[in-house]
Amino acid sequence: MELAKPESVDAAVAALGNGAVALAGGTELVPLLNSRIVRADTLVELRRAVPKGVDGTTIGAGTTLAELEADPQIPEALREACRLSASPQLRAAGTIGGNLLQATRCWYWRLKFPCRLHGGDVCHAQEGQHREHAIFANDFCASAHPSDPAAALLALGATVRTDRRELPLDELYRLPTADDRSLTTLAPDELIVELEIPQPDSSVYLKAMDRRRWAFALVGVAAARFGDDVGFGLAGVAPIPWSTLDDTTPLPGNEYKTTILEALVRRARAQLVS
Ligand SMILES: Cc1cc2nc3c(=O)[nH]c(=O)nc-3n(C[C@H](O)[C@H](O)[C@H](O)COP(=O)(O)OP(=O)(O)OC[C@H]3O[C@@H](n4cnc5c(N)ncnc54)[C@H](O)[C@@H]3O)c2cc1C
Ligand code: SF4
Repeated sequence: MELAKPESVDAAVAALGNGAVALAGGTELVPLLNSRIVRADTLVELRRAVPKGVDGTTIGAGTTLAELEADPQIPEALREACRLSASPQLRAAGTIGGNLLQATRCWYWRLKFPCRLHGGDVCHAQEGQHREHAIFANDFCASAHPSDPAAALLALGATVRTDRRELPLDELYRLPTADDRSLTTLAPDELIVELEIPQPDSSVYLKAMDRRRWAFALVGVAAARFGDDVGFGLAGVAPIPWSTLDDTTPLPGNEYKTTILEALVRRARAQLVS
């Protein structure tokens, strides 16, 4: 396997596609390469190409979760979502760009069952084990999106800047269908370059997990208040980061998530006004 080390966004984009895949911190990509879920002839290292750091309301896609968690310019919901993600070692290496594009933790998918997300015609989780799976939009694929920071960015109304367009964060994601199994709208050779984050009056992120630390969200609730308006972003409840609170469609083994969601939303609203 080749390793390319481009020095600019344009050079990185030119190197992508045709079997070349972007590498940021590698905390997600390397395990997927090891298990041969992702195949690559060339890794395009983004370290020198993609911006890093926080400048007012702008975040470089190469900024690590550890840097975001510690930066006072970052709204509380995003800082807390980063702080509650993964382990300190992973947060020191993992970037916000890579975090937004991480794949599902559905073990059927990670163990390469020929499920719908792998191009098959069955969702094994729907009939099998689905305690951790989605309670919204789960009819085609019941996977639950694992990103805590994506939920916070959704509540905050963040904008994503790529090498070729600017889009609201929710338009970065799409629900998979029989015709197109992808979960994002990003082209194979498109790079996330920066994020733009509005400053709320207050914001909060609450996360229910099986352990107090280093676990993915069973339910994550981000809320951000701008004047009288409150925006929500949810992790762990739909195949993509989700912003609607009503009309859950739980599976028989994950109805408990609806109860947790309602409780966390109540707590988040209370914390926003206080
Ligand atoms: C054990 C474990 C526990 C974790 N727990 C949590 C958790 O609780 N909450 C949570 O939110 N996350 C969690 N994570 C996910 C972790 O935060 C991500 O793995 C990390 O943020 C990914 O960033 P990276 O820079 O390492 O990405 P990489 O692994 O380098 O890349 C990930 C993907 O993004 C693509 N990519 C990276 N940067 C860009 C870019 N700028 N533009 C376009 N494509 C890009 C890569 O091609 C690849 O497909 C966990 C991960 C592990 C391994
Ligand atoms: S939830 Fe999605 S990823 Fe998991 S088995 Fe079903 S189709 Fe595959």
